[in-house]
Amino acid sequence: MKAQVRVDNISTNRSNLLCPSCNEGYLHQGIVEVFNRQEDDENIRYTVVDSGNIHSQTIPNAVSNNPSSRRQGLIIHFECEHCQDTEFKLCIAQHKGLTLMDWEYDDGNDPGSKS
Ligand SMILES: [Zn+2]
Repeated sequence: MKAQVRVDNISTNRSNLLCPSCNEGYLHQGIVEVFNRQEDDENIRYTVVDSGNIHSQTIPNAVSNNPSSRRQGLIIHFECEHCQDTEFKLCIAQHKGLTLMDWEYDDGNDPGSKS
């Protein structure tokens, strides 16, 4: 079972993302991966932003880690201040008219299956 993506409302205008492991809100963003394509395109534009460096290339979707099976996707890496040495990825997938989100550990496992 995957861990739910949860937020806490810190004000009426903003929410903060909660750690999938400890449920605290002290997450730090890291690498950002963008998987850009039109529906069912064989190739995607894969762009990674890491510490101010940008790498972008066109690759086959089939060999990518695109969270979406048919459309666009986004992965944001996080570290939690309370969960030492554990990195998480927030995976965002376009699925038809929906935007789906789930957590994954950097080793490929979802947080719900680790405990
Ligand atoms: Zn945590």
